[in-house]
Amino acid sequence: MRVGIPRALLYYRYGKFWERYLTELGAEVVVTRKTDKVLLQKGLEYVSSEVCLPVKILAGHIADLKGRVEAVFLPRVVWLEDHLYACPKMIGIVDIARMMLGKDVKLIAPVIKGGFVLPYLAAGLSITPNPFPVVRAFSRASRELNTRTAVPEYEPGEKRVALIGHFYNLGDDYIGRSITSTFTSNGYRVCLKDELPEAVLRSRKGFARNIRWVYERELYNAFRYLADKVDGVCVVVSMGCGPDSLVAEFMREEACRRNIPFLQLVLDEHTGVAGLVTRIEAFVELAERRKAVPQAS
Ligand code: SF4
Repeated sequence: MRVGIPRALLYYRYGKFWERYLTELGAEVVVTRKTDKVLLQKGLEYVSSEVCLPVKILAGHIADLKGRVEAVFLPRVVWLEDHLYACPKMIGIVDIARMMLGKDVKLIAPVIKGGFVLPYLAAGLSITPNPFPVVRAFSRASRELNTRTAVPEYEPGEKRVALIGHFYNLGDDYIGRSITSTFTSNGYRVCLKDELPEAVLRSRKGFARNIRWVYERELYNAFRYLADKVDGVCVVVSMGCGPDSLVAEFMREEACRRNIPFLQLVLDEHTGVAGLVTRIEAFVELAERRKAVPQAS
């Protein structure tokens, strides 16, 4: 069976696992190409202009698979441990995918509510009915899941910025590359949320326990962890994203209180690279001036 995987949204967290799992099951896996303008334009034809950029991009990748595959693999994460929910748009895009693909393309969409082992095994059985290869494929593919337990080490004296954004924004070069490269070309080490272990990202300590969206809690915890290890914080959010805008506001307030340089970049399909670069360079200059002049406490 030829199975397509859209290279967007949750792909940037679980994609390697999905690819390995499906390949081990004997499927011919087709992963869409990296995001480009054409894919984004395709996505805009299928979803409302009100939705966030990563969902528009995902719609483009799904559209690109039509006519090329027999099935599309698109898990629906509803909630993970501790009843931490994915956002409604992330949950709902699977229904849009079903409409987009029509009757001729099968949608394999394991529904994750808490544990993911059983839903993935059931999805595997829809590809091959024999449970033994399914269990073996799952066990082999699980090695591709991130099991990071150690925190990164930071060199004394280096300039560092915390780049706080969703893995599907910063992992997608079309969205994130100009942001990361502008910081690195200005001599900054970019500290990313996804370099931190899950124990840090999912922590329930302090204010984080009030955040019930799983990936937003990760953003906030990464901010808390990195804030006193960096020269500034840059938060990347998507236009039209309610959870992002709320959590970013908490981060902004806290950064302001602790006198940490803070930049918020809001992205949509109209965001130009030149504008992003200008804003980041202005922020870098400000952060360096602040560092040169010790602030009164
Ligand atoms: S959390 Fe925000 S950016 Fe992510 S899918 Fe939901 S609305 Fe979009």
